[in-house]
Amino acid sequence: MDLTNKIAIVTGGATGIGREISLKLARNGATVVINYNSSSANAEKLVEEIKQMGQDALAIQANISKFNESQKLIETTIEKYGRVDILVNNAGITKDSLILRMKEEDFDQVISVNLKGTWNCCKNIAKHMSKQRSGKIINISSVVGIIGNIGQSNYCASKAGVIGLTKSLARELAKRNVCVNTVAPGFIQTKMTDSLSDEIRKEYVRNIPLGRLGTGEDIANLVLFLGSNLANYITGQVINCDGGLVMY
Ligand code: NAP
Repeated sequence: MDLTNKIAIVTGGATGIGREISLKLARNGATVVINYNSSSANAEKLVEEIKQMGQDALAIQANISKFNESQKLIETTIEKYGRVDILVNNAGITKDSLILRMKEEDFDQVISVNLKGTWNCCKNIAKHMSKQRSGKIINISSVVGIIGNIGQSNYCASKAGVIGLTKSLARELAKRNVCVNTVAPGFIQTKMTDSLSDEIRKEYVRNIPLGRLGTGEDIANLVLFLGSNLANYITGQVINCDGGLVMY
């Protein structure tokens, strides 16, 4: 899975799962553009870490929920490196509560980052990848976008939307040799899941056939595969990486 000479953008690439993805792509030869919104120190530290590995990396601040900022992210990358081979739409947020308590802005914010932000980046990269006649777009959804979850009506709707977006773009861009796939993580050990109580965590683990939460690296391994030439005949798919939590 050699990504030498490939240029990759990872949104929300400085922390959590995104950080593991950035590192994994760099370790396998890619030049990585690490997008961040607020984590500038983490992003700069990661750039240094990757440079010490002998790979090139660049941190770019952009709030991907804003169309013009996501455009700047893509255009700045093209100006510097001339192309983008892999786009990983990883940035995401949660604002959980039961619907009776959920505020309208909690719904709007989650949709605007998770779904609109992903669409913004796809929209801005589509013309470049189409012209290139190659590219891999990997959208990070979630298994709860498939099965739903109590207290996450906004988040699940956004992640289900990402799946519909993936399948539509896979059909639209296939003629240009651009593959678009979704990775649906289960419960992964990150800041996002650190806030769970021990009791809830144990309950989740009880339902996972492989008997543990996932790691960022578990997700990064799948993203690496989908970003590589080994996945050239895979498009429009939703691939769960969840320890067997959800089986069709
Ligand atoms: P995390 O540690 O909270 O990371 C989220 C990342 O998204 C951060 O790097 C953050 O950047 C970035 N981000 C948020 N809003 C942004 C915006 N407007 N513009 C640009 N970047 C933005 O969460 P994580 O667990 O690694 O999650 C990564 C992805 O996996 C998310 O899409 C999440 O929904 C999905 N996922 C996670 C799990 C899990 O169990 N953890 C399960 C299923 C799916 P800054 O820090 O710079 O603001």
